[in-house]
Amino acid sequence: MHPLFAGLGTTIFEEMSGLARQHGALNLGQGFPDGDGPEDVRRAAADALMTRSNQYPPMAGLPELREAVAEHYNRLQGLAITPEHVLVTSGATEALAAAILALVDEGDEVLLIQPMYDAYRPLVLRAGGVPRYLSLRPPHWRLTAAEVDAAFAGGPKLVIFNDPLNPAARAFDAGEIALLAAACRRHGTIALCDEVWEHVLFDGREHRPLIGEPGMAAQAVKIGSAGKIFSMTGWKVGFVIADPALLQPIARAHQFLTFTTPPALQIGVAYGLAKDEAHFREARLGYQRSRDVLAEGLTRAGFRVLPSEGTYFLCADLAASGFAEADRAFCMRAVHEAGVVAIPVSAFYHEAPETGIIRLCFAKQDAMLAEGVARLASLR
Ligand code: PMP
Ligand code: GLN
Repeated sequence: MHPLFAGLGTTIFEEMSGLARQHGALNLGQGFPDGDGPEDVRRAAADALMTRSNQYPPMAGLPELREAVAEHYNRLQGLAITPEHVLVTSGATEALAAAILALVDEGDEVLLIQPMYDAYRPLVLRAGGVPRYLSLRPPHWRLTAAEVDAAFAGGPKLVIFNDPLNPAARAFDAGEIALLAAACRRHGTIALCDEVWEHVLFDGREHRPLIGEPGMAAQAVKIGSAGKIFSMTGWKVGFVIADPALLQPIARAHQFLTFTTPPALQIGVAYGLAKDEAHFREARLGYQRSRDVLAEGLTRAGFRVLPSEGTYFLCADLAASGFAEADRAFCMRAVHEAGVVAIPVSAFYHEAPETGIIRLCFAKQDAMLAEGVARLASLR
């Protein structure tokens, strides 16, 4: 086995969901909604499964999905892309793998912004990249000019930018996006933008894709996930958006990873992406309401919650909530003593000191959120 993989454990999400199954615990850990996803989108996929070809679709994706992706982002995010800018992948995870394998060469510096999604670092290391880190700090998790300048000093080949940021639930503002774009332009750094949470934004926030910033069209790679857009995380349909010259090497990697993605799901996603803005607004208002239910419940129970500007997640600060334990120890006690699963935010840092912060998923029915709060409160 490659030594990198020999040293890796199971992902924190699988580990904690495994504990939830084993102990019959309430799972507020791994990020997935407890609903079924839009019925008409599922119906479009089901109809396609029964009436259309189930043989290999084209390697870059079905033409109707590539067109739907371009139309969707041009309409909702003001981009000016064509189907030639779009590559369909099997989830955002495959998109990340294809982009990192294609763009990172032996010895290339790759800037990772912590807290970071767990897939980034192993993929960068396996590609031969040399990770550098920029660490954001709670409760505001802001990018500052001084820290961005310092982090870019070595002229990284690639920066991985997750916006909105899982697990911090941060949606970066126009100033921070401009700061990052300027640093990328200055150093010729490619921005690999993991925007899977782009539609799950609260309090009237609008997503600003980095690829839409001045001068970034040929220097940014945008990744999306239908699993997140339509609240069906098991679908694993993702897309990469980039200038055709930058997309080409990523497609080369994709052809030897999965080559393609089930056609019926692609047709379902193409159907869904054409929905009007009201559909996406309603979905985000639903999640915002669930965020408020969990935040208010936890606050009443004496927990100190951090702001959640987007994603399915809300973080709580253990020390400020009156708990002396580290986040991993708290999460283990929560499973065993209270039957509730949360994710320790330390898992999103490389060699972090314990953060003392836990992440909870609120994409659940109110009754489950209330039960989760009651169980967490019983840990005092
Ligand atoms: N990136 C981030 C930041 C995520 O949170 C997730 C999963 N929630 C993914 C990528 C993976 O997305 P997919 O399930 O489409 O592979
Ligand atoms: N992205 C999901 C989360 O943050 C988990 C995905 C996975 O289990 N790999 O909870």
